This record gives sequence, C-alpha cells and structure tokens, in this order.
Amino acid sequence: MSEIALTMLGTGSPRPDIERSGPAQVLTIDGTHILIDCGEGTSTQLLKAGIPLESINHLWITHLHSDHLFGYAQFLIGGQGNGRRELTIVGPKGIKKYHQRILELYEEDLNYRLSLGRSPKGLLDVNIIEIIESGEIKTDIPAYVTCAEMVHNVKTFGYRFYIEDKVVVISGDTAPTPNIVELARGANLLVLDSALTTTSVYTKGGNKEFSKVFENLKKKHCTPVQCGQIAQEAEVKTLVLTHFLPEADGEEAFAETSSVFAGEVIVPKDLQKIKVD
Ligand SMILES: [Zn+2]
Ligand SMILES: [Zn+2]
Repeated sequence: MSEIALTMLGTGSPRPDIERSGPAQVLTIDGTHILIDCGEGTSTQLLKAGIPLESINHLWITHLHSDHLFGYAQFLIGGQGNGRRELTIVGPKGIKKYHQRILELYEEDLNYRLSLGRSPKGLLDVNIIEIIESGEIKTDIPAYVTCAEMVHNVKTFGYRFYIEDKVVVISGDTAPTPNIVELARGANLLVLDSALTTTSVYTKGGNKEFSKVFENLKKKHCTPVQCGQIAQEAEVKTLVLTHFLPEADGEEAFAETSSVFAGEVIVPKDLQKIKVD
C-alpha cells in the first residue's frame, strides 16, 4: 500500500497575507514529491515543511496566473543551487515560454552562477510537458493522471491523480462547472478553490471598488457553499478548501460548506499535512 499525503504549503491568494502563503501544495507518494503550483513563498514553505527543494523533480502548474507562479524563479534557481539535477514541469500551453522568459530575465545572473562551476543540469535542461486538452497525461510520476478544463479566465486544468485505489483531485482556480464534478467523482480527497468566502477583505469595510471586483470574481472562483455542493454531487470523501483571501473567516467557511456537504471538510492552515488513507 502506498503512503499518500498532501501538504498544503500555501492556502492564500494573489493578495499578500501574513497567515497564508501563495497557492502551492505537495502531493507525496511513497517519498516522491509532486509540487502543484508555485505561489509566492513556496521555497521557504517547503523548507518549513521539511521537504528539501532538491528532492522535488516534478512541478505541475494548474494555470499561468501570477499568484500560482510568483515563487517559480526562486524554486527553479534556488532549488537547483541546493542540488536538484532533474526537473519535469507539466502545465497548460504557455508554460514553456514562461520558463524560457525567466531564464532570459536572469541570463546574466545565471551565467555568473554557472561560471562558479555549478552544473547546468536541472536548470537549463528542464523537461516541459504542455497540456493542450483534457484527458490522460503521460509522465513518470507514480500515479495515473487525467485532467479537465476548469472555468477561469485563462486555460486552467484540474488534475485527478489515481494512486492504486485512492484518488486525489486538485481543482486549480475555478467557478462551478460540471467538469469539476466529473473530475472529482468519488475522490478520497478534493482540493477546491474557495476564494469567495462570505467574509474577507473584499466584503468587509464597504469599499466600492472591492465590492465591484468581488462581484466580477463570482464568474472565476467558488464560494464555500458552491464547494460543498460540488463535493456532495461528486460524492467526495474529504473536501479541502483553499485559495483564501486576507481576513477570510475560516470557521464561517467551514460551517457554510458543512451545511451542504455530508463528508469531511478541512479548512487548512498553511503547512497542514493531510494523509490519504
Ligand atoms: Zn487564477
Ligand atoms: Zn489563483
């Protein structure tokens, strides 16, 4: 039996938050780590979680929004400096160009580092798999994986990892869609975008601009109640909410989700490790 765990490195959003780092999580299958998204602070969160950066050879990106990629340059360059010599990245079309641009931005810096005698492996030879459409994804991680397109404003893929008889699903950012219900069908663990909590920085204080933004975000993300409805319809065992804005009320989100979902609800703190058994 494989040992499976999910570590919530960052449960935050694009808005900087002292309590919640940028979106990122690690799926660990018998010691193989798969980093999913790479928001601000991912490298230091990995260190705090006791996961050496150089032990990560697999990075999966759900979509190319800044909050899911702010930590990439640090992870790429810092992790290679720590000794990583292999990296495979899976993500939507455009991830190759993004990686290439990071290398170009830091060209002088990287030339300097390599001139010190450092190997270019794990930095200049990154293997990148771009996903074009929903379906099966062939990689060498110890899981069978399928993906489906979510509803956001850029191409976003949710991932379904089959590990023996267990299923872990990561939604990425999404508004409610039949695709996430299908992707999450019968999952042991579903991590779902719950950005639109009833209480958060966008709903407190009567700021008109924030209220307008919040209204528009309803087409791009889920409320806790919508998360619960999706999990209930998909007959998921455990639902993990994430992507919280500053001042989100976690207890309220838990209560709202639990009112429509009969399974287990987790409103995680950063670095919380969730075992799948
Ligand atoms: Zn997004
Ligand atoms: Zn996001």
